[in-house]
Amino acid sequence: MTQQAHSTILAALAHPGRPCLTSSFQAECVALTHMLVQHAPEIPVLFLDTGYHFPEVYAYRDEIARRLNLRVLNLQPRLTVREQESQFGILYQSAPDRCCALRKVEPLFAALADYDVWFTALRREQSPTRANLQVEEEFRLPAGKMLRKISPLAHWTARDVWGYLRKHDLPALPLYDQGYSSIGCAPCTRLPDDPGNPRSGRWGGKKLECGIHIEAR
Ligand code: SF4
Repeated sequence: MTQQAHSTILAALAHPGRPCLTSSFQAECVALTHMLVQHAPEIPVLFLDTGYHFPEVYAYRDEIARRLNLRVLNLQPRLTVREQESQFGILYQSAPDRCCALRKVEPLFAALADYDVWFTALRREQSPTRANLQVEEEFRLPAGKMLRKISPLAHWTARDVWGYLRKHDLPALPLYDQGYSSIGCAPCTRLPDDPGNPRSGRWGGKKLECGIHIEAR
């Protein structure tokens, strides 16, 4: 399993073009990052700094960045949290799709325009919306640029991920100890209510994806 992921990574890195990795510093992100930096120590690690993360996520991001000597790029929205809330109100309550568009999708798609190969730690098992995930896909940005989107852990189970972290003595985000199984922005993350769907605690069950993995048409 791990060897297959390394092979996928090496094959993707062999292609011409600039690679990057997106990470929310969840368990699978850290496993993939640990593998990737063995082959590409300077790879930019794109973190969507929405301003709404749990304090534990920021502290853990910094701890892992130090430990793995990462080049983290914090992608920030055009508006601060305060500016957005004063202009539009509490969008994560009234219009979560709009909030995700402003704080995640726009900054990420703008940043991805600088790259050609996009590594993600997505896994099929994470959600019904990811069941058909391919290890390698093409991804079109709104401006038309095509990226190679690589998900080396597509076939991994949660057990594989946790086994990898244990084997390599990598700490996990402490919020997992409180029962969270998928961790995003604090206002939109609850404990999961469906044990068969790890992302069932996200957005109060109203939606399952923020939009960053949905291709422009
Ligand atoms: S996850 Fe919630 S708080 Fe974060 S950008 Fe989306 S709607 Fe806003």
